[in-house]
Amino acid sequence: MTYENFTIDTDADGIALVTWDMPGRSMNVFTAEVMDQIDRIIDQLAADEAVKGAVFTSGKKGSFTGGADLKTISAMFEDFHAEVGRNREAAIATLFERAGRMSWLWRKLETCGKPIVTAINGTCMGGGFEMALASHGRVAARSAQMGLPEVKVGILPGAGGTQRIPRLLDTQAALALLTKGSTLSADEAKAMGLIDAVVGDGDLVDAAKALLKKGLSPVKPWDEERFKLPSGPIYSPQGAKIWPAVASLYRKETADNYPAVKCIVKSVYEGLLLPMDQALRVEQRYFTEVLQTTEARMMIRSLFVSAQALAKGARRPKDVPPSNLRKVGIVGAGFMGAGIAFVAAKGGLDVVLIDQEQAAADKGKAHSQKLVEGLVAKGRMSQSEAEALLARITPTADYAALSDAGLVVEAVFEDRDVKAEVTKKVAAVLSADAVYASNTSTIPITSLAETFDDPERFIGIHFFSPVDRMQLTEVILGEKTGEKALAVALDFVRAIKKTPIVVNDSRGFFANRCVLRYMNEAYDMLVEGVPPAMIENAAKFAGMPVGPLALNDETAVDLSHRIMKATMRDMGESAVDPRHFKLVETMTSDGRLGRKAGKGFYDYPEKPAKKKLWPGLKEMFDQKDPQTVDFTELKQRFLVTMALEAARTMEEGVVTDPREADVGSIFGFGFAPYTGGTISYIDGMGAKAFVALCEKLEARFGERFAPTPLLREMARSGETFYQRFDPDGASARAA
Ligand code: NAD
Repeated sequence: MTYENFTIDTDADGIALVTWDMPGRSMNVFTAEVMDQIDRIIDQLAADEAVKGAVFTSGKKGSFTGGADLKTISAMFEDFHAEVGRNREAAIATLFERAGRMSWLWRKLETCGKPIVTAINGTCMGGGFEMALASHGRVAARSAQMGLPEVKVGILPGAGGTQRIPRLLDTQAALALLTKGSTLSADEAKAMGLIDAVVGDGDLVDAAKALLKKGLSPVKPWDEERFKLPSGPIYSPQGAKIWPAVASLYRKETADNYPAVKCIVKSVYEGLLLPMDQALRVEQRYFTEVLQTTEARMMIRSLFVSAQALAKGARRPKDVPPSNLRKVGIVGAGFMGAGIAFVAAKGGLDVVLIDQEQAAADKGKAHSQKLVEGLVAKGRMSQSEAEALLARITPTADYAALSDAGLVVEAVFEDRDVKAEVTKKVAAVLSADAVYASNTSTIPITSLAETFDDPERFIGIHFFSPVDRMQLTEVILGEKTGEKALAVALDFVRAIKKTPIVVNDSRGFFANRCVLRYMNEAYDMLVEGVPPAMIENAAKFAGMPVGPLALNDETAVDLSHRIMKATMRDMGESAVDPRHFKLVETMTSDGRLGRKAGKGFYDYPEKPAKKKLWPGLKEMFDQKDPQTVDFTELKQRFLVTMALEAARTMEEGVVTDPREADVGSIFGFGFAPYTGGTISYIDGMGAKAFVALCEKLEARFGERFAPTPLLREMARSGETFYQRFDPDGASARAA
């Protein structure tokens, strides 16, 4: 028998080597056809008496599988939502069947009667790792990475993951792995006992065959009667120690915002009380339940489908040939420039890092040195990779070194005059087809481009700090920015493995506009006398990773002060609330500049002591009795003020594609990920409900919550942002 996506070679010992290699794709993914073919292969292996056992591996270099196919997942959601209004029961029944397809396939593999080893040659995520867990043995190449990341996109590992992991690991370790979705290196997986062996990349198949030849039972431990759970039965003294704490930990970690996490916990708890077949049925039910939630639908769309589409260059002009960037220049080797130099060198680019003096440029490079040392110490980078990365960065004060750079990123002081002077110096040596980008956080790109001879080649590439950890970059189009500059900027962002959003010029662009709303709302709450701890907790319970006051300390309070002054200078005194200005000015003049000063909204005592909210904050404003503060309303205020600002950016044409507002808000400032992002938050509840919420808040807190004309129109028509600003249409417009 032949299969489109698989080859089978049986050796003289009767071991069948099944190699998965999908034609025309760089990575194997699970499609309906792939699963059907594996189904038939299992039948074939089971029926063929000459076959004593089998090894499954992949023919793709560096990867076993990336997991589920995007189209298959999207189709499952679309079909369900198209059907559920017409016939709810039938829609759920179909969803249940589809949700269980892979799970029962792996159960069939597990119980087919022949021992099977999965040889994990590289990245092996999601369903692929669940296949490995269902196999009777697992070996991995040293460079392989594996994990069950489903929870990160709002679903659960529904092909046996919630059942096999807690039968292999103790309950706490299993729950941590399943609810965090962490990626494991081969060595980590081996140390945890999730795989049998780690070998050199070239020895993988031999090692897998050797494991079979040693004699591997085709019956899994949990299918034997004497099987004992690693942490003992749930109803036992050990279980009684573990489970009561799980519920409170769940609340602490999720604030009850993530249905997938709750379903994982329930699936593990209930599944461990049952034999495997029933346990898988329980998991299938919870998987079906999770798939019906708004959270899963929105998270999958933003964090899986859209994030991948944007990372692959959905907004890149299609007609511009690849830019083949080899060398980039970074001017300004300070906090941001040093970080950009590191990610560029890590992405394989040669980097010229310029500052006013050699010593400052060297200091910028020293940042990379520190980062690679950390990576090497953690085993995430080899010594030779570290040396090669550092060798790619040339620190200098000589602008002539930029003459053959394809792109220059300016990251000097946030000062128009300094930037203009640097732009001139770079333009004097830059080749005629190179692109110039500014990392400004506030100055409109169109106005900066005026100091450059050819504004078509001028663009904004706005990074977030810390650059090595933040996934987002905001690419900003000035009025005259050309397609070539956009293509080069996006090729650069892709090379450094970040996710770009492309926005039109506006004060604060996209992300900072929303973030400023977040902080302003916290200032308003302080002024109203809401206890500071309630403000911070409300934001966290709403799903924000960092409270607004803590965030303000990270970004620096004097920066807020400077932004307010610049806004008043450019837009008039009334553009800033005088009570906010007074608060920030008082803090700044008292030296409470944030974490960098050791004091801001928080006090930062010497480690290991933890930061604490500054008690003086309570003395600045008459405090309300916490019992009289509506906590739910505080949470709504934070999310609504940011979502409303995102809606304004779309209405104004600053952001043209809702996927970018969603992905940008989660990757850029951690907007409550369970919502799917600022725009999905609105679409998820519907414009009508959102407008009603805005009106309620407007009546209580003023016109900053007034719904925009477009929102009112959408509330009447029932339209969503994704219908109105169709992403496919947006990509087509960009093309
Ligand atoms: P920084 O003060 O740490 O670094 C600026 C660097 O530019 C300094 O090393 C300085 O010596 C150098 N410089 C100044 N004038 C120069 C000149 N004429 N020629 C060469 N080098 C010169 O500042 P930063 O925080 O890295 O910010 C840099 C830019 O990035 C600013 O435009 C800022 O708005 C933007 N930005 C900052 C952040 C952030 O979180 N700090 C985030 C996004 C964007």
